[in-house]
Amino acid sequence: MPKWSKEVLIGFVPVLLIFLAFLGINIVPVIVAGAMVGALLVITHMRGGIAVNAGAEKKRKKNGPARLTFEEIGGQDNAKQELREALDFLIRHEEISKFGIRPLKGILLTGPPGTGKTLMAKAAAHYTNSVFVAASGSEFVEMYVGVGAGRIRDLFKDARNRAVKESKESAIIFIDEIDVIGGKREGGQQREYDQTLNQLLTEMDGIYNSETPRILLIAATNRKEMLDPALLRPGRFDRHIQVDMPDKKGRRSILELHAKNKPLHPDVILDKVAEEAYGFSGAQLESVMNEAAIYMMRDNLTQVEDRHLAMAIDKVMMGEKTDRETNQEEKKRVAIHELGHAIMAELLRPGSVSQVTLTPRGQALGYVRHNPQQDQYLYTKDYLEEQIMIALGGAAAEEMHYGGRSTGSRGDFDQALGIVEMMMKSGLTSLGIAKLEMVTTEELMKENSKILDELMERTRSLLENKRNVFEYSLDILMKEEVLSGEQFRCQFRDSVLLPA
Ligand code: ATP
Repeated sequence: MPKWSKEVLIGFVPVLLIFLAFLGINIVPVIVAGAMVGALLVITHMRGGIAVNAGAEKKRKKNGPARLTFEEIGGQDNAKQELREALDFLIRHEEISKFGIRPLKGILLTGPPGTGKTLMAKAAAHYTNSVFVAASGSEFVEMYVGVGAGRIRDLFKDARNRAVKESKESAIIFIDEIDVIGGKREGGQQREYDQTLNQLLTEMDGIYNSETPRILLIAATNRKEMLDPALLRPGRFDRHIQVDMPDKKGRRSILELHAKNKPLHPDVILDKVAEEAYGFSGAQLESVMNEAAIYMMRDNLTQVEDRHLAMAIDKVMMGEKTDRETNQEEKKRVAIHELGHAIMAELLRPGSVSQVTLTPRGQALGYVRHNPQQDQYLYTKDYLEEQIMIALGGAAAEEMHYGGRSTGSRGDFDQALGIVEMMMKSGLTSLGIAKLEMVTTEELMKENSKILDELMERTRSLLENKRNVFEYSLDILMKEEVLSGEQFRCQFRDSVLLPA
């Protein structure tokens, strides 16, 4: 039964009874019968609840004994080190209690999705020889007040029972998406959420070092700023470990881990793949290796080759190829647009174009894959301006060849506007060092247009000087549909020989 129909029924029945009583009909037998049906429903619901809990338990048990080790997690060296150190508190509990150190109750893992937070929690259970019980914040969200709190109680009880049953001294409870139940309490409306969070706090306060099995709560979130301060205060989640996106070395080691059970062609250089998969999370890298193996099978081959990996990176980055048929004129416009991006990239950052393609994927009709030579965390004003010019290259190229733009530049403009905003917030514009709220919309608009108009002008004049690259590469790109970075650079060089 849909949840809303329950509420309608609850509202409708009393109204009907009052109406019947008003008409002089004896409603006592109806009430008695209703009470009996209600009692029956409650009993069945409780059984159902138990069944649901049993289902949840089954799901948790599916996690099975935690056999995953820290060695099976690629990269994340700092996070692993910090976590191991924190876990030593659980292992060396006798020593720490001798010194009067209070037990560690909660560890919070924060970081973007797919970076290995769940893996870390599992490895933690293995490292400490604990039972591993996992749940997700969303499992505790219910419409009915008290149900979520009850589930939290069950989770802790379940962890203790399992530890006793499996003769383990400790249990690790992992709650993913803790922000769903641990968000800031604003008061008023959210009674169910409050009760669930209160129950979690109560359970955490009830964790003592002296009791066996010892309980350690590990929670994960990618929105730490949303969490209620009560959760973050000392004595609760007082160890915060950042699980970041992997750098190039991390990406390489994650790829290595996921390539272990896959036959790689000897020519494949994982270092290069790690470089091209810039900005990918562990989960995306796992997907790259998996998709590459699928492409290999489709080709009826027995070894994963470079091109399979390149296709897999495209798929993970941009989405699956689409069947969208573009007509010749549209295809030509897309080719000119993409060449605009590629030429700007090659001019401003020689060697950075990794691939130019006209294959429609996800939302894009074509795209240029860039190849950052190294991971970067700080950006100068010059770098950001270059980035904007590369983004504007597509629209500028369309203007040059067609006298106007198309809707194909929407995403590029979003990117350019995002970078301008970052520049403003970082004090890299003539607005100086200011919060955006201090500036009027007119001033922001003026500064925004000034920056983008000037960079668009520079982009146009750089592309004008490279008209012959367009002429030289257009037909080849239209025919081949995909150009590797090397092929494109050859054309870039050869086109210089064309008469201007
Ligand atoms: P979410 O925040 O979405 O819950 P998460 O950070 O918990 O994500 P995991 O569930 O641990 O991410 O990772 C998902 C999958 O991605 C793993 O099963 C694994 O295949 C792969 N993966 C992620 N990070 C790593 C890593 N550091 N080493 C090896 N594999 C990884």
